Amino acid sequence: MDFDLFVIGGGSAGVRCARISAGYGAKVGIAEERHWGGTCVNIGCVPKKLLVQAGEYGGWAEDAAGFGWTIQKGPHDWGKLIAAKDREITRLEGIYRKLLTGAGATVFDGRAVFVDAHTVEVGGKRVTAKNIVIATGGHPERPDLPGAELGIVSDDAFYLKTMPKRLAIVGSGYIAVEFAGIFRALGAEVHLVYRQPLPLRGFDDDLREAMAEALTAQGIVLHPGCLPKKVEANGDRRILTFGDNETIDTDLVFFATGRHANVKGLGLEKAGVELNAKDAIKVDDGLHTTQPHIYAMGDVTDRVNLTPVATAEGHALADTLFGGNPRGISLRNVPSAVFTTPPVATVGLTEAQAAALGPVDVYVTRFTPMRHNLSGRARRSLMKLVVDKATQKVVGAHMLGEDAPEIIQGIAIAVVMGATKADFDRTIGIHPTAAEEFVTLRTRTRTTDLAQAAE
Ligand code: NDP
Repeated sequence: MDFDLFVIGGGSAGVRCARISAGYGAKVGIAEERHWGGTCVNIGCVPKKLLVQAGEYGGWAEDAAGFGWTIQKGPHDWGKLIAAKDREITRLEGIYRKLLTGAGATVFDGRAVFVDAHTVEVGGKRVTAKNIVIATGGHPERPDLPGAELGIVSDDAFYLKTMPKRLAIVGSGYIAVEFAGIFRALGAEVHLVYRQPLPLRGFDDDLREAMAEALTAQGIVLHPGCLPKKVEANGDRRILTFGDNETIDTDLVFFATGRHANVKGLGLEKAGVELNAKDAIKVDDGLHTTQPHIYAMGDVTDRVNLTPVATAEGHALADTLFGGNPRGISLRNVPSAVFTTPPVATVGLTEAQAAALGPVDVYVTRFTPMRHNLSGRARRSLMKLVVDKATQKVVGAHMLGEDAPEIIQGIAIAVVMGATKADFDRTIGIHPTAAEEFVTLRTRTRTTDLAQAAE
């Protein structure tokens, strides 16, 4: 065999797995056809957060007046922002590549496809490997409707030549609400068209209501309970028809309607690797595919599609195969955040999920952050704890508000450790912060049981 490990895909999962394995002395090859660092670094989390931060400056400039500043907010230069973002991404991509070569991995710039269960072809060359990892990620997909090709997807949003003045975003998952916030904060008129009554299906219901309120407060026009029907072009303009034949005449239609695993054209059938019902690669808890020496990880398995999960999987497999430390990772209590303005962050179970397992005590607080009593901005935070009634363990913590991702990361440690409400209560707060609310919630809002959860 040419390699102990060959990794297909140089994103979060693949790079981590290759780098750590090579560090253990394994002979590692890794192929990437597009950009090192994958979705997260190039067309996902990282550039998205830079765009969110760009929008925040506009808000800060407006809010400063309440604190005595006279700031004239000038126009925003989209081209300058995208150029700065591109420079940063190029820098990061270089670092990812260097990490691999520095660790001793052999890097292939090209698409790798299976020839058989131990052989891949990359750049016209055949290489063999004892173990193979598929970490090819996913891609955004447009819904199946007339004119869908006239709309953009998130990959395109990072490279728009000009800032749209008006746009309609379809969907209400992570990507839809994040980009709605970005474009609105940069001055666009934004419509969000989605089929659920509230955005962010799967999140806690109180959080979803608070999110709808926050999006509205930001000036985003919500169209809940609406299915998109078609997109038509009128010169450079786009007409989105949705719901009961309502229309939006706009500069841009943006489909944020979900992502799918990158499995096409990899020759999986030649390797004996099977897909699951979602057309993603089927894996067991040890990340084995249906072929025991071939593993898959990250978005291509469509389980918990988050970068830190992918990197944790990559690291765990490297430790298992070459580090003498066989281990898996837990997909329970994975914290996550949605970078809207203000953001949302969450760890553990929603109230409904927890109540389906047994009665829960629920603590909710809503308040205007201190800063906005002076800034005058209409912005309210929500913080919520879901506590198992029998054990008093905190099984869910949810927040919408400024710094929520920074706060919930710490709370997540307590939840993962199995902290009880009493542990939260005996922790002294840091004053004055929003975070201290999590340790000063004394009045139970309600108790929810199975029957109420079912409603
Ligand atoms: P999601 O699956 O989260 O959301 C897809 C949205 O599109 C939902 O609102 C869904 O509606 C809607 N939708 C799907 N199909 C159709 C259709 N045919 N017509 C109308 N609406 C439709 O996908 P995203 O693309 O937002 O994100 C993909 C994944 O990427 C996330 O699940 C997340 O794991 C990851 N991600 C994480 C981020 C973070 O951590 N901050 C940021 C961005 C992405 P419905 O709810 O009714 O199904």
